[in-house]
Amino acid sequence: MTPTPKFAVICEHVGYTYPNGTVAVRDVSLSISEGEKTAIIGPNGAGKSTFLTLLNGVRRAEGQIKIFGIPVIARHYKEVRAQVGLAFQNPDDHLFCPTVYDDVSFGPLNMGLTREETEKRVSQALNEFGLLDKINSPSLNLSYGERKLVSLASILSMQPRLIALDEPTGNLDAWHRRKLIEWIRCYNGTVILATHDLDMALETCNRVFLFNKATIAASGDSRTILTDESVLLKNKLELPLRLQHP
Ligand code: ADP
Repeated sequence: MTPTPKFAVICEHVGYTYPNGTVAVRDVSLSISEGEKTAIIGPNGAGKSTFLTLLNGVRRAEGQIKIFGIPVIARHYKEVRAQVGLAFQNPDDHLFCPTVYDDVSFGPLNMGLTREETEKRVSQALNEFGLLDKINSPSLNLSYGERKLVSLASILSMQPRLIALDEPTGNLDAWHRRKLIEWIRCYNGTVILATHDLDMALETCNRVFLFNKATIAASGDSRTILTDESVLLKNKLELPLRLQHP
């Protein structure tokens, strides 16, 4: 039996430059253990979203990335993508089928699962977010918050070992934001969030990497980084709202 690798993610000198010459990620080295919940924070344009897309080869990184011990290179993309569920910021990038069922079953069916197993996974995933009653609705008729949760269910139904979420609470109302935070807190797998929501990062993540100008400006356990006002201000961020004094 193959032993379970200790690290979900290992990055060594990882970089990415867009075709127009913009260096979005520069010389990032980090590791994330299996089961950890990690936040990537930083000002706009710091490279957070781009970094997430490197993890499953949506964009091809310079340097080396390993996901559960598998190198993220073209010949392993299929294997890596089965392990990494990447949720884009905009739910509509994930929803393109006539109904919620079709959207959430798309991944499992594509993986070759039986209809019976697929149905089980769809029900489980929707149930996680209290959305089972929407199973036959057209996804595009749902509210933004509901679409966001359905888009996450469409990732979850593939049961990836690592979930990477780009701005998961962006544009969510308080109720859907809370629902998502509670879900992340209870979730058993490895989670990486790219987010501006530092209160959520504080509530859900044990570790933080602060990106600025394409690279890691600070890292450490969440409480240490997210309570360090001078580090946050230096990197165009503010203390989480709950830690700000009136
Ligand atoms: P963040 O998620 O932290 O806001 P991004 O990863 O979106 O940062 O962007 C990092 C840098 O890459 C920024 O300078 C941004 O303008 C640039 N960038 C993002 N997408 C593209 C693209 N498609 N083409 C060229 N540059 C891009």
